[in-house]
Amino acid sequence: MSARLLLLEDDPAIARTVAYALERDGLTVTHSLLVHDARQQLQRARFDLLVLDVGLPDGSGLDLLRDVRHAPPTAALPVLMLSAQGEEIDRVLGLELGADDYLTKPFSPRELAARVKALLRRAGHGNGNGHPAAPAATAAAPFHDDEAGQRISLRGQALPLTRRE
Ligand code: CA
Repeated sequence: MSARLLLLEDDPAIARTVAYALERDGLTVTHSLLVHDARQQLQRARFDLLVLDVGLPDGSGLDLLRDVRHAPPTAALPVLMLSAQGEEIDRVLGLELGADDYLTKPFSPRELAARVKALLRRAGHGNGNGHPAAPAATAAAPFHDDEAGQRISLRGQALPLTRRE
């Protein structure tokens, strides 16, 4: 069964690009333009991942994120947040509210697809393409973030990342 993704984004061009990139990777994308509609979708169906914009015509994606984390059926739903350039406060708030990852606009569809797949893998959803991973193909969580958050290692090897990364 292919992974189901709910995309909350009011910019039609961004939504089209995102949906195209993810559907090409075998995901099923449901698109909401409004916070209100996304809430209904989440009540109606089960999703494997939520990609949400912050500024929406009828409210903030951060409010939806807060509610998602407080509702038991969606408390563990992986969430990737799309934030506007320069809106650091949105990113900080989003991470505090429990977003798993974020991308700053403009972003490349390929990077988005890669991050979505990484989140799905982390959530135990096969290889992120909707196909079960081959047994013992990869460790469950190859990335490790050390306690100070200063270093990220991949299978025990520290990655040579800059501070910003
Ligand atoms: Ca927006």
